[in-house]
Amino acid sequence: MQGFRALPSVDQLLQSDAVAALIDEHGRQAVTAAARTRLDAARQAIRDGADGAAQAAALPHLIGADLAAAAATALRPMLNLTGTVLHTNLGRAILASEAVTAAATAMAAPLALEFDLATGGRGQRDDHLRGLLRELTGAEDATILNNNAAAVLIALNTFGQGRGSIVSRGELIEIGGAFRMPDIMSRAGTRLVEVGTTNRTHPRDYQSAIDADTGLILKVHTSNYRIEGFTAEVEAPALSRIAREAGVVLLNDLGAGSLVDLSRWGLRREPTVAEAVAEGADLVTFSGDKLLGGPQAGFIVGRRELIAEINRNPLKRALRLDKIRIAALEATLRLYRDPDRLAERLPVLRMLSRPKAEIAAQAARLQPKVAAILADWGFDAQVCECQSQVGSGALPTDTIPSAGLRLTGQGGDAPDRLAARLRALRHPVIGHIHDGALILDLRCLGADDDLIGALSGR
Ligand SMILES: *Cc1c(COP(=O)(O)O)cnc(C)c1O
Repeated sequence: MQGFRALPSVDQLLQSDAVAALIDEHGRQAVTAAARTRLDAARQAIRDGADGAAQAAALPHLIGADLAAAAATALRPMLNLTGTVLHTNLGRAILASEAVTAAATAMAAPLALEFDLATGGRGQRDDHLRGLLRELTGAEDATILNNNAAAVLIALNTFGQGRGSIVSRGELIEIGGAFRMPDIMSRAGTRLVEVGTTNRTHPRDYQSAIDADTGLILKVHTSNYRIEGFTAEVEAPALSRIAREAGVVLLNDLGAGSLVDLSRWGLRREPTVAEAVAEGADLVTFSGDKLLGGPQAGFIVGRRELIAEINRNPLKRALRLDKIRIAALEATLRLYRDPDRLAERLPVLRMLSRPKAEIAAQAARLQPKVAAILADWGFDAQVCECQSQVGSGALPTDTIPSAGLRLTGQGGDAPDRLAARLRALRHPVIGHIHDGALILDLRCLGADDDLIGALSGR
């Protein structure tokens, strides 16, 4: 049992130069715990026949590596080269620098969140955004929630609790992450009244379902799928007339909800929030971090007295927004006052509208450098064409022509092996696997050096 004697005690380890240096960085408690764990493992290895001196010599390095791994956050910056601009799993919209600055300021100093600087009395946190939202959507008023799911939930609860909510069978959506309209309705305490069929719903379907018990009519933008072929839906203006005659609320859930007409930047026209308001919906709900390009948030805009009723719902407090995001949203919404410069300043729009020729030129510039790095790993890189997507359920069937790098290697598992290696980088690089290759769509890449630096482990 000569081997065990080669191992230092925990105290001796902590006093050794190599391990003592770790205490400055990670703290004594964490270093002590890591040292104990590695000493236990070394004892076990020696019991299994390993050499004691070799085990002892390896300890400082192993302890340092454990501590570094524990300190590395999964929330470190990475490169989204998936081709999906608004990738829900990668945090959706990248914020404009104006929004980042506003959020950082809001984090570091007190601010008049619910304080009226003119009178010194109490203010409302939503007031910072209400005016901008009225201006940008044409609605009478607005309220802001944690996300669009919360916006839909509180609207259904406020006007549908204990009553029926009518929705077309063609719009009973699942958005993912267990957000299914029928389930949300039951949690909101409203009874789902389905009308029409999957592919066709007519005005009379709504009209014959309305009774004294009806709380609201819900129209849902089918964000993540399209029903094509022999179809009929009741458009919002007609639905608005039906709702008004019956004296019930029409809620239009837009989902991505753009504030500007995207066709100006060569993308497909999606209904804007202002259009949905003008079409006569009493309330319109939409997300902050989809096409709008801000932080996670949900908006309800519409008739003043209905917004006031939502604000009186006790759920509002549970679903409200924090000051950091309110600050970021205010800065983001301000950018929309100058649509001419929006594509320069709003990253989501800049990425979505980036011309394919520019992306292809970047791919051509990067190809030799990336190929040289990957050659050492046993992989190859070629320029390729690819198709980007908006993501987050916006414009689901549309793709945007793009360009990138097609990475290949030996063996059927080459794309998976390379993908794992790129995920393990200090700045992880995320692509997507297609047709036996790992594709890096460069639409969302900033400077060339961002990719070279990440691949070089910087
Ligand atoms: C995305 C979406 C939601 C949920 O919005 P979040 O901001 O992700 O909570 C609700 N309804 C529709 C139609 C959507 O597309």
